[in-house]
Amino acid sequence: MCNHGARSAKSSSSSNSSSSQQQQQEEKKKKKTRMLVKFKDLPQYMKDNEYILDYYRCEWPLKDVIFSVFAWHNETLNIWTHLLGFLIFVGLAVMSSKDMGALLGNFSRASVSGPSMMKMNQLNVSDALFAPDSHLKQMSESFIYANKEDGFSTIPSWPWFVFLSGAMGCLVCSSLSHLFACHSRRFNYFFWRLDYAGISLMIVCSFFAPIYYTFHCNPYSRFFYLSSISILGVLVIITLLSPSLSAPRFRTFRATLFLTMGFSGVIPAVHALVIHWDHQPVIAALGYELAMAIFYATGAGFYVSRIPERWKPGKFDIAGHSHQIFHVFVVLGALAHSAATLAVMDFRRGLPTCVY
Ligand SMILES: [Zn+2]
Repeated sequence: MCNHGARSAKSSSSSNSSSSQQQQQEEKKKKKTRMLVKFKDLPQYMKDNEYILDYYRCEWPLKDVIFSVFAWHNETLNIWTHLLGFLIFVGLAVMSSKDMGALLGNFSRASVSGPSMMKMNQLNVSDALFAPDSHLKQMSESFIYANKEDGFSTIPSWPWFVFLSGAMGCLVCSSLSHLFACHSRRFNYFFWRLDYAGISLMIVCSFFAPIYYTFHCNPYSRFFYLSSISILGVLVIITLLSPSLSAPRFRTFRATLFLTMGFSGVIPAVHALVIHWDHQPVIAALGYELAMAIFYATGAGFYVSRIPERWKPGKFDIAGHSHQIFHVFVVLGALAHSAATLAVMDFRRGLPTCVY
């Protein structure tokens, strides 16, 4: 149970009232105000970060929990960092389904060219987006397939949408977990495990698009890598569903599992480098993937070390604590991965059809 009365204990003690009716009225009043409580007043199951000392919501009713999305407490920025990330990916999904061809073609050329080429491509984006009968427009009409032109590869766009769905799923699960976990013990266990499952799902989904497109003409490698990461993902999700692993002391273990999953991508990346070493867009994509790895690893470093709040406990309760920084790095990592995937997709679309 949370100690909601801790802050008002001094004033209420002087009244020295012992009647149960008065106590009930006082309890009702306290519940109405929905006070934020200190770390020391939290029930054991909610004690996660001893360096965040105050501004906890504790066992609030559902309605108050929902409205607390617009209030200041120590989870506000954790909720909004991933909610905004979710909205960025929703926007990306809408743009992709509207005009995938224009997005891919211009993005990829800009990503591997100099500043002057970038300017030209910015013009091309608007041309391509608004010309109703443009070639790019026509070829992006199909949601399922993204064709280049006759004689060139016809590639499915679903792996790209698998990644976008994984990213959106992970980010929205994370936001919901940070919003609702304070409601009750049951919610706490359910939502934190949902959060871990969401992260695992996003990692697995992230593998799909680049592997599918990079090894488009190597079906055995493609099958091997995609089935391996899927099996690893399922095993990680099953492991993390164990209630005991939600405990704070397993923070490092969880981060290690996620990083192992993520860094298993080094094997297909090296393979891609070997078979595409002379293809500039693939090298550019690997550069983005390296940026992604740095973002994720830096984020995981903050997650595990709980810097900066461990240096000044209580100073970063509302803003600037490690989990918020970790969230920002997760969104940056996912965006870097989007850039890599778009570069590989456009590269694949420009190649002749596979010959088996
Ligand atoms: Zn989080």
